[in-house]
Amino acid sequence: MDDVDISLVIPVYNEEESLPVLMAEIDDEMALHKNYEVIFIDDGSSDRSLKTLIGLKEKYPRIRVIKLRSRSGQTSAMDAGFRRARGNVVITMDADLQNDPADINKLLSELDEYDIVIGWRADREDTWVKRMSSRIANLVRNRITEEDIKDVGCTLKAYKREFLERVKLYNGMHRFLPTLFKMEGARVREVKVNHRPRRYGKSKYNIRNRLFNSIYDLLAVRWMKRRRLTYEIEEEF
Ligand code: UDP
Ligand code: MG
Repeated sequence: MDDVDISLVIPVYNEEESLPVLMAEIDDEMALHKNYEVIFIDDGSSDRSLKTLIGLKEKYPRIRVIKLRSRSGQTSAMDAGFRRARGNVVITMDADLQNDPADINKLLSELDEYDIVIGWRADREDTWVKRMSSRIANLVRNRITEEDIKDVGCTLKAYKREFLERVKLYNGMHRFLPTLFKMEGARVREVKVNHRPRRYGKSKYNIRNRLFNSIYDLLAVRWMKRRRLTYEIEEEF
């Protein structure tokens, strides 16, 4: 597989039961693509996720598995995947089956006209508390970062890789990638995607780490946006 064109990047922290189902669904959706790879990043799982992934690699040779030394968080796991990705197009999704691989081709078809396509979970299959906190988070986030994105938290996204290479990531920043890429001139498109309840395992976030950590991040994003260099050279002699 030398000429990979699409790389799926999937962070994994303790998702052992979901992985075989997820991979079967990806295999189905990607049947028409010849040169894709699936990069799973094991973020220091303490369950059998890593063993499961290595087992799945036997059955699906397109799989690549990266193991982080210790749990480093979702942004780090995604960064490790981005750096290894060989495709010109990178797709990110969660490992817990909440994102639906059946949406992948829909996202890909928008990349002719756009640089980044982000999923918008119009009907969230989450608890009431989570839906509310997410709604508040989106409102606050859009307000502070002077942005207008319906669903920043959806991991299901497709990117042209050239944009990923332009931005340095920091912890928590996976939530702000569309804003950071817009600053780099990316054309961003939002597309409705399916969302499913978590079938196995537990969410890795709670209200405290989701809301409060990101307020700190918001100020950084706002600062970057305000302090962005926007000059144009008019002439050179
Ligand atoms: N994840 C990770 N490291 C972490 C937290 C989460 O790799 O420290 C992965 C997790 O396994 C999942 C994705 O990131 O594939 C999103 O996590 P989760 O589903 O718990 O988030 P939620 O859907 O509850 O927002
Ligand atoms: Mg989830």
